[in-house]
Amino acid sequence: MTDAPTARDLAPRILAGDRRALARAVTLVESTRPDHRADATALIEALRKPTADLGRQALRIGLSGTPGVGKSTFIEAFGMALVEGGLRVAVLAVDPSSSRSGGSILGDKTRMDRLSREPAAFIRPSPSATHLGGVARRTREAVALCEAAGFDVVLIETVGVGQSETMVAQMCDVFVLLLAPAGGDELQGVKRGIMEMADLILVNKADGDLKPAATRTVADYAGALRLLRKRPQDPEGFPKALPVSAMTGAGIAEAWAEVQALARWRKDQGWWDRARATQAAHWFEAEVREGLLSRLHRDPDLRRAMADQAKAVAEGRLTPDAAAAEILSNL
Ligand code: GDP
Repeated sequence: MTDAPTARDLAPRILAGDRRALARAVTLVESTRPDHRADATALIEALRKPTADLGRQALRIGLSGTPGVGKSTFIEAFGMALVEGGLRVAVLAVDPSSSRSGGSILGDKTRMDRLSREPAAFIRPSPSATHLGGVARRTREAVALCEAAGFDVVLIETVGVGQSETMVAQMCDVFVLLLAPAGGDELQGVKRGIMEMADLILVNKADGDLKPAATRTVADYAGALRLLRKRPQDPEGFPKALPVSAMTGAGIAEAWAEVQALARWRKDQGWWDRARATQAAHWFEAEVREGLLSRLHRDPDLRRAMADQAKAVAEGRLTPDAAAAEILSNL
């Protein structure tokens, strides 16, 4: 990116909906080079007001599910349905494991063959991951860029591992959990915490031989969801479990209708704005924490002080608390 366009050049093109400019901007926010970082921050800031003035606010949908559950197939079907309905759809991926596997979950765009060829769609693979904090920032900024570019819906896909789900749930308006039909009659070991984040549980592969199992699984999850504490940000009947088939398209329209109904209710009741405000505050704190940690690691004076204090603590000359207090007072 030696000829990286400046934030000033990119901003108007992004606002005009230029997908190439958007792609370059996402590359810019993914870069870890300090000068790129400064440009990225400037670009996001330059887009903030125009985006608000244009009233551009995408519906941010988080989608989580373990590998093989049918996320790509679902996004293809769901995304195509939205595009055919006249909406512009962006798909971003969060895959904290991609540094290990060496690839990215969306790296192979043929998995969303039709959608990736749609002019109204923008698909962005997961970058080979740095640490989760970096991934979170990159994804948030990519969402902001897509909103600035006028996308109606931003889908944020994540594999169900580690903390990526919590992270995605904290940057979306509606969180969807995609599950496969269960073999037995037990719930599929879905962690309670993840169930509690879900607004909609979609049991995929409700077709052919798997249909009865899918129907049973939907009933199981509907039951489990009813046992959860009622959340104030939910209208009656939510969170919900529904069957879908990404392959045949069955249930896709219903799933979209539910997402829209939920989004509309939250907007009307003020929960939408409240959730976004809470999320913004959360990310502000996360950024400060990240920044402090990276200073601790990078700043040579601080590193030396850390090493000295660690030694003093190890030798019993200082308590951990006192040693930490001294470091913190120097920040
Ligand atoms: P991902 O790893 O979550 O992105 O899952 P994929 O979309 O790659 O799908 C994994 C496998 O499940 C593929 O072989 C798909 O063809 C299959 N699959 C996905 N959706 C459905 C569905 O609705 N019904 C059936 N029967 N198979 C599906």
